[in-house]
Amino acid sequence: MALTQLPRFHYLVFKNPPPSLNFFPKPKLPIIKPASPTLFSAPKSTLSTTEPIPITDFALPEEPKLEISLDKLFVPPETQVSCNDPNLSTRILKGSNIVLSKYARDAQVVQADFVKSSVRTEDCPSDGLPEFALVGRSNVGKSSLLNSLVRRKRLALTSKKPGKTQCINHFRINDSWYLVDLPGYGYASAPQELRTDWGKFTRDYFINRSTLVSVFLLIDASIPAKKIDLEYASWLGQNQIPMTLVFTKCDKRKKKKNGGKRPEENVSDFQELICGFFQSVPPWIMTSSVTNQGRDEILLHMAQLRNYWLKN
Ligand code: GDP
Repeated sequence: MALTQLPRFHYLVFKNPPPSLNFFPKPKLPIIKPASPTLFSAPKSTLSTTEPIPITDFALPEEPKLEISLDKLFVPPETQVSCNDPNLSTRILKGSNIVLSKYARDAQVVQADFVKSSVRTEDCPSDGLPEFALVGRSNVGKSSLLNSLVRRKRLALTSKKPGKTQCINHFRINDSWYLVDLPGYGYASAPQELRTDWGKFTRDYFINRSTLVSVFLLIDASIPAKKIDLEYASWLGQNQIPMTLVFTKCDKRKKKKNGGKRPEENVSDFQELICGFFQSVPPWIMTSSVTNQGRDEILLHMAQLRNYWLKN
């Protein structure tokens, strides 16, 4: 979809509003403790089921259709959805559960500059521009996604330079907002002491960074859910940090290599496992830095979050 060609919006009054009308997901209380062994058996959503909405027209021709029910959609504020809307599927971003709102504009990246690496939240840029933080396990594809979003081959290399890997790296986009690259977690060969420090460091940023619009938590869709990713999602939910799930490597379709499941199965399993952590369904989106699947859609989602944040 061209970024400038947004679908027209139809504002409908519906009889049974879906529960996910909050822009940002709020956690359910009580929240399952991150370290709890019940983490993998989080209860299924008790939300009422409605007619599934077929989502077609993926970037890759062989990609299967996803079916998402109305209650599993992420519906931005000042936007209404109805299962009677014949155009609803055209208002959902491809390969995601995200409904477009009137705030989805100015999504293109025309300029991207590395600004600075900070070791503390207080040292981050103080110009008040909205920002999105990318975080995920080492090797999840974070640098590749960042480069794909800004259409540059090596911008994110900055964050991989020795000495910068444990920093909060700010990239200014179009002189009006930031993409923030945070240290990868779960790097097996890092000393435990260092791993703990990374945790503390990013936690402080999440809680105290007032211009943080949303965390984009990257999850590798080519493998089954990892405990550490579920813990991360749970922690974000528990602390009411707005979060979008970005599933990476969705082009990897070889079943045997990927633990017997296809990316859409892993995506669906991950939803089931985390639904107990949130009161409303968090936004999620499927991506690939190889095919650029999801790139324009992420930028549109960021644009609608950002424009709403700026207005409010
Ligand atoms: P980071 O450590 O999270 O920054 O991960 P990188 O971006 O460096 O990627 C780690 C590895 O995964 C590299 O070998 C990439 O080529 C590969 N990779 C990243 N994104 C994708 C993707 O979307 N599809 C596939 N097939 N491989 C990817």
